[in-house]
Amino acid sequence: MNIRMTIQTLTLFASLFTFIFFIRIRQEDIFLLFMLSFSVASVMFGKLFCGYFCPFHAFDKSWGYILDKYNIKKINSPRILKKKLLYYSISLILLALVMLRVLSTLFPIKIQIPFLILAFPILVIFTSDLWHNYMCPFGFIMNLPSFRRILMPNINNLKCKYCNICVNICPTKAIDLNNNELMINETDCILCYQCEKVCNFDSIEIKTKGD
Ligand code: SF4
Ligand code: SF4
Repeated sequence: MNIRMTIQTLTLFASLFTFIFFIRIRQEDIFLLFMLSFSVASVMFGKLFCGYFCPFHAFDKSWGYILDKYNIKKINSPRILKKKLLYYSISLILLALVMLRVLSTLFPIKIQIPFLILAFPILVIFTSDLWHNYMCPFGFIMNLPSFRRILMPNINNLKCKYCNICVNICPTKAIDLNNNELMINETDCILCYQCEKVCNFDSIEIKTKGD
């Protein structure tokens, strides 16, 4: 494991434990404010939050590790939920609920958001793309175009042997063939680096884009 991956593991698990702590003391609005600020910052720096600080990503990574060990597969995400219009509606409603929850610290609004806890059973049962690509309440903001994308994986198609191992392992299905070249969809990529880890031909390099 290189330094970047060690830092990523530490930040992800620190984030998961902090999230659980805030849920336990019923102050999740503080953590939500932190998540919301990071998602707005993604317009500047890309999905650093997803890759390094998201508690759901941390949980998904650990759960995926256990499932792989016992060769258990998750259920494919229902196709109906992948319709663009439905996605935008769900995404905006979830984002509005998060904002109301954060505002409830300043104004006398009473709102609970069990869907944040619901993320865990969703990630346990369904393939990871369902939560990361379609249900994350911050997805709407995170999917806006970024000025720069820091620490993005990039496929060197000159070295690539098109074995498709990275395509199959990518939790958000962000890798696809485009004009006979494998490309990473920057909007869907959550910087988990599983593709880099499994590539036996060192064809995946980590870069900063937009300089
Ligand atoms: S493209 Fe690579 S780093 Fe991005 S989500 Fe897929 S596996 Fe993870
Ligand atoms: S795992 Fe490596 S060699 Fe195989 S398709 Fe992906 S980038 Fe190419």
